[in-house]
Order: sequence, then structure tokens, then C-alpha cells
Amino acid sequence: MIVLIDNGHGSDTPGKCSPDRKLKEYLKSREIARRLVKTLNSRMVNAKTPIEAHLLVEEDKDISLPERCRRANAYCDKYGKENVLLVSIHCNAAGADGKWKSAGGWCVYTSPGRTKADDLATEIWKAADEGLKDYKERFPFLQAQGAYDSRQKPMRADWSDGDPDYEARFYILVHTKCPAVLTESLFQDNKADCDFLLSEEGTKAIVELHANGIINYIKNHKK
Ligand SMILES: [Zn+2]
Repeated sequence: MIVLIDNGHGSDTPGKCSPDRKLKEYLKSREIARRLVKTLNSRMVNAKTPIEAHLLVEEDKDISLPERCRRANAYCDKYGKENVLLVSIHCNAAGADGKWKSAGGWCVYTSPGRTKADDLATEIWKAADEGLKDYKERFPFLQAQGAYDSRQKPMRADWSDGDPDYEARFYILVHTKCPAVLTESLFQDNKADCDFLLSEEGTKAIVELHANGIINYIKNHKK
């Protein structure tokens, strides 16, 4: 099984950072992606099934979405699209005006309609629901202090079609041949989320939840 880990944006992408500029999305997504690739390559699905994880974008600069999809589809053509999956790592933002916002939480996206990506997204969502236990426990206290507005939930979900992923026609989800999902790990323009993302505890939890969700998908859905 080939697992492709994409990391959002690049050093030359405008915006995409916390209002105090301490967190840059391209750097955080690369840190998570690199650690996730290492973690996956050190684990087995079972005695017979190692995982081969690759970074889709080794560069620090932004790589265009068509080029990202071309790279992913080259793996699909070589190994068979049923033997490849892709996870794109991002951090969310509620605005682009450089101000702190009150939205927070974790979520995952797939392309519209029912595909294998829905199973992959559900497994990663379930792993996040477990792996972000401490974040979830702190959330209501921080919310009471005003860090999040009253509509916010730590695990964001759209259950209208029976599963927790949001659906969107994101380029990387629509133009890749293999199952592909995009995760938004917390909000870079929320101060409390940002503190968690900048902590070792937070980064480690996010790396782990992705690894666990991907491995559970391969175990439970890949025949
Ligand atoms: Zn992004």
C-alpha cells in the first residue's frame, strides 16, 4: 500500500499564517507530513503488510495543484489506484484579514458523492475523535473563557449524508485517481487552536491520529 502525504501550500504562498505570524501553515503542514511519513514507514498494518509512505511535495516552495495531482496519478498508474491513497494536510482558517477569530476544531473533507475516500475520511475522523481527547476536554473550558464562540465544536462534522466528512470539490480531491482526503487540523487564526498546534503535545497528537486512521482504513477496508 502506497500512502501519499501532501502538505498544503508553500513558503511563497501569501497569507496562510496565524495573525501573530508564529504559525505558518506551509511549515506546520510540512512538519506534520514529514513526521507522519516517518511514523507510517515504521509501522506495519499486519505481519504481511508494510506501508510505504511518501511525501508528495518535498519542496518548501508551493507546487501547483495540477503538478501535485500529476505526481499522485503517476503512483496510481504505476501501482494501481486501488493500492494508493492520498491524505492532504492543512490547517484551517476562518478569515484572511489577519485577525484572530473564534472558530476552532478539527475536520476532514472528501470529494462529493460516495467513494472509498469516505471510508478513509471516517477512519481518520474516528482516530481524531480519540487522539484529540485532551484537546476535546479543554475545549469547553476555553469556550467558556471566550476562545471559541458558542457554535464551535472540537470535532467538526457534517452528518447530513450519514458520515462525518465535509464534501467539497477541492482540486486535489477531484483530480486524483486514488482515494483522497484533505484534513484541516484546527484553526491557525484561533489563538487557543494555535497554541495547541505550536505545542509538541498538539503536533504529536495530530501526527498520531493521521497514522492511526490511515492504518485502520487499510486494515478494515482494503482487501
Ligand atoms: Zn490550507
